Amino acid sequence: MTDPALSEPLTAARARLSAALQAAGRPVDDARLLAVSKTKPTSMIREAWQLGQREFGESYVQEALDKQAELADLNDIVWHFIGPLQSNKSRIVAERFAWIHSVDRERLARRLDAQRPTSLPPLNICLQVNISDEASKSGITLSELPALADAVHALPNLRLRGLMAIPAPSIDPVEQRRPFIRLREALESLRTRLPEAPLDTLSMGMSGDMEAAVMEGATLVRLGTAIFGARQRP
Ligand SMILES: *Cc1c(COP(=O)(O)O)cnc(C)c1O
Repeated sequence: MTDPALSEPLTAARARLSAALQAAGRPVDDARLLAVSKTKPTSMIREAWQLGQREFGESYVQEALDKQAELADLNDIVWHFIGPLQSNKSRIVAERFAWIHSVDRERLARRLDAQRPTSLPPLNICLQVNISDEASKSGITLSELPALADAVHALPNLRLRGLMAIPAPSIDPVEQRRPFIRLREALESLRTRLPEAPLDTLSMGMSGDMEAAVMEGATLVRLGTAIFGARQRP
């Protein structure tokens, strides 16, 4: 059974994304919605799946593994890991996820490459960039980016798809765009540096700043609150 309480916000989130793409003069299928389901029950993920959502983002390893086990029958879900990743948990993440958005060091990338089962397609990787310094301690600086990108691109079981950032929150739309501009420009220079890499992804924009991110080229917006409602813990 589909809960109408989820149908409404998911439909509204899709409409927001389409409107943002249109306002940016981009094709309506130019960006995808990643449903960030951390802290939310599997019943909600199942409902979103019934409404056609396939890509889900989780931030906590054990919570994600428990949910994947409960939802094993939904075998076309594409799981994205978007939280900070400790090296001692890299193996299970390399085995159970299709994407990781939070790669921020070469040692972690090498472990993920070695641990990715060769029976699976390469693991899709976004490098997390700390784009507005004060925001969080996660992510590499722009000056560290070229070296890490070169290293990840060289690893056979990883596919370097793009960049992710979580800018400092702002309610000013002009202010919101600044870090997204920097991330877009960083991806553009990486494309020049690594013309062979499949760099098609800008993972940026959340419930509060999705429009600004889409204006600057986001291809994957990560929406939690807008779809599933407010969370108890961050
Ligand atoms: C929680 C989280 C989101 C979703 O944030 P909302 O503001 O609830 O849309 C997006 N990205 C990351 C990395 C997150 O941890």
